[in-house]
Amino acid sequence: MTLREFVGRCHPNGNATVAHAATHYRWSPGSRTRSRCPNCGTELELSERHVLVALSGEIGGDDRYHLCDEACVAAWLGTE
Ligand SMILES: [Zn+2]
Repeated sequence: MTLREFVGRCHPNGNATVAHAATHYRWSPGSRTRSRCPNCGTELELSERHVLVALSGEIGGDDRYHLCDEACVAAWLGTE
């Protein structure tokens, strides 16, 4: 499954849908350089390769999540 195929899928924990999913290498704005993968809990170094997923909710605005890779995205969205 490629990242593009995740776009438009619903997140199982809410009414959000995937607005964007892409491989990401660098996180420049702000001071946060680490983030925890919401699927497996691994602490990610955001300057290294990871997957950025933006969820678009009903209320508006996107929530951004950083995940390890495609497999974590698939498991997180329950599409495995
Ligand atoms: Zn993960």
